[in-house]
Amino acid sequence: MKLYAPSTIKEIKERYGFKISKSLGQNFLTDKNVIDKIIGAMNLTPQDLVIEIGPGLGVLTAEAAPQAGKVIAVEIDKNLIPILKENMEDFDNVEIINQDFIKINLINVLEQNDIINGQKRDAVKIMGNLPYYITTPIIMKILEERIPADSITIMMQKEVADRIKAAPGSRTYGALSVAVQYYCTVTDVAKVPKEVFYPQPKVDSAVLRLDVRKERPVKLIDESVFFACIKNGFGQRRKTLSNSLSGVCGLSKEEVKDALGEAGIDPVRRAETLSLDEFAALANCVVSRIAK
Ligand code: SAM
Repeated sequence: MKLYAPSTIKEIKERYGFKISKSLGQNFLTDKNVIDKIIGAMNLTPQDLVIEIGPGLGVLTAEAAPQAGKVIAVEIDKNLIPILKENMEDFDNVEIINQDFIKINLINVLEQNDIINGQKRDAVKIMGNLPYYITTPIIMKILEERIPADSITIMMQKEVADRIKAAPGSRTYGALSVAVQYYCTVTDVAKVPKEVFYPQPKVDSAVLRLDVRKERPVKLIDESVFFACIKNGFGQRRKTLSNSLSGVCGLSKEEVKDALGEAGIDPVRRAETLSLDEFAALANCVVSRIAK
C-alpha cells in the first residue's frame, strides 16, 4: 500500500471516519521523491535512534524504520494512533507515543532507549514534517533542552527555513537565525512546493538538516546574557543597538554604549547587522558590566 498516495489517504479517512485537523497542521505528504530526500539526508544506520515529530499516517516512519535501529514516533492526535498502529504493523522497531511533542520528556525517552538491538545506540536523529504553527517552539525545545541529538531533519514553511538560514544584513535575519546557527550548522535539503501535500497548504515548504554542533562556535562567559542581547536587540530591530539594548541585564544606556564600544561595535548599528561573533563579543562585554 502506498501510504503517501492521495487515494490511500482518502480511503483511510473513510474507513476510520478520520477527520483531518487543520488546527493540528495536518497536511500529509504525497510525494515519494520528497520522502526519499528527507530520509536520504538523514544517512541512517542500523544503530540509529530516530525520533519523529508528528508521524501522521506514517509516510516518513515507514521509510525510516527499515534503515534505522528504532523509530519513536510522537503524535499528538489520538485519532491517528489506531491508524498509525495498523500502518506500522509490519515493523517491530517502531514505537508510537500519543503525546504533545512540546510536553514530552525527551531526555527520559532517550535514557530508556540507550540500548537498541542489544547494543549501545549510535546517533539520535530527529525528523518531522512539522505543523507550521509550532515549528519554532519545537526547534527551540530540542536545542534549549540540550537534547543529545546529532541531527534534526525537518520540513517547515519555506519562510521559516529562510529565517533560519539567513545571514547578517538580510531582511530575514533575526533571533531565530542567530539562535539556530549558534547551536547547529544548517544544510539545505529540498524545496517543496505546496502541491505535494494533502490537503494543500497556502505556502511552500523547505527541508533543512540541522547538525547539532559538538562544540559551540563562540566562547561565552554567560549564555543567558548572549540570548538576552539577541532577544532585546531583535525585539526592537528598527532601533539602534544603544537604544534597543538599553536596560538589558539591568545595564543603563551609558553602560550599554560602553559595552558596545569595548566590543568594537558602533552603537548606531542595528541588531540585524551583527554576526554571531559580534553578538558573542558584545555579550561578554555586557557580563563584565553586570558584575561591576
Ligand atoms: N509526517 C506526516 C506527513 O509527512 O505526512 C504528517 C505531517 S503533518 C504536517 C503534522 C503532524 O504533526 C500531524 O500528524 C499532526 O497531528 C502532528 N502534530 C501536530 N502538533 C503536534 C504536537 N504538538 N506534537 C506531536 N505531533 C503533533
